[in-house]
Amino acid sequence: MAEKVVIIGSGPAGWTAAIYAARAALSPLVFEGAVTEENRMAGTLPLGQLALTTEVENYPGFPAGDMEAYLDNSIASDRRSYMAPHHKQGVSGPELMELMRQQALNFGTRIVTDDIVDVDFESRPFKLTSLEGQQVEAHAVIIATGARANYLGLPSEERFKNRGVSACAVCDGALPRFRNKPLVVVGGGDSAVEEADYLSKFGSIVYMVHRRDQLRASKIMQDRALNNKKIEVLWNTVVDEVLGDDQSGVTGVRLDSTVGKGKRDVEAGGMFCAIGHTPNTAFLKGKLEMNEKGYLKWTKAQRTYTSVEGVFAAGDVADDYYRQAITAAGTGCMAALDAERWLATKGI
Ligand code: NAP
Repeated sequence: MAEKVVIIGSGPAGWTAAIYAARAALSPLVFEGAVTEENRMAGTLPLGQLALTTEVENYPGFPAGDMEAYLDNSIASDRRSYMAPHHKQGVSGPELMELMRQQALNFGTRIVTDDIVDVDFESRPFKLTSLEGQQVEAHAVIIATGARANYLGLPSEERFKNRGVSACAVCDGALPRFRNKPLVVVGGGDSAVEEADYLSKFGSIVYMVHRRDQLRASKIMQDRALNNKKIEVLWNTVVDEVLGDDQSGVTGVRLDSTVGKGKRDVEAGGMFCAIGHTPNTAFLKGKLEMNEKGYLKWTKAQRTYTSVEGVFAAGDVADDYYRQAITAAGTGCMAALDAERWLATKGI
């Protein structure tokens, strides 16, 4: 029998959609993603981008406080054991995602730990195929597969992820390790300026490392960077290697010139990549309308409808602008309500 609603993805959008759909008695089935080496390398393991971050200080409802007892009470012990005990105040990204997952389970959500790799949106009900070959039929589908930050792809960058290398200044910039240290932002677009501007509140100086001699950022954002005394743009420059050690994490970067001026080392307590994101939509190519960057298009104002009736999109997979946990959760709620109402009009 066909599922009423299948949700693909397991970030804040997916779990919020599941909580709402479960409470609406739609008995949602979530494909949370596969645990594969390929997904680990790409940054697309279950629980999404938040699972790759540390403290989450801007998700409403989690002020600083001792989380340990609450986590012990609310999450099943087999899921709890892999989470390292922490002695900090407040919730971490992985904890927040486990809490959302548990909340979805509590209302009867069913979960499959696998990727959906193929979709047939031309037949009704829709047909979905998983990596392991499972075939599922669904009357409605919510896509919440998110996006992944682009990194430079250097081995040294991989080594220091979460220990000074980040792709989200808003998530990580206020951490103590970055305070009053020189910081590096890679990129020349609006995000790079925004991150550099944000980080200039915490770091002693922010070097914007840009591979060309002109910023891609909009004029107003360019002015913001160039007028900020704590931001220095290093033109025609790329990061050759992230420097550091096991104890301190990142201690600097080795820079190279794109115009033949040679290499040099710069001291830095952190490196932030702001070289764009890639939405996880490869399996939807040709099946749903996307923008030129591959993000799913919402086809109806203020709604999560996509170009195929009965398929809804929530979270970063349809948003290259806000990209916050709370906005993703918000659109996840919208997608579940949209799906519920749409199914009702079909008598399903
Ligand atoms: P973006 O505009 O695509 O810029 C990416 C930047 O990263 C470019 O400067 C690019 O260099 C550089 N880059 C890409 N790959 C690189 C690599 N491998 N090595 C070194 N540098 C690399 O991306 P974005 O800044 O994330 O912005 C995305 C969208 O969101 C844009 O439409 C932007 O306007 C919007 N946005 C707006 C705001 C705002 O208005 N406040 C804030 C953030 C984002 P090149 O320039 O040489 O290609």
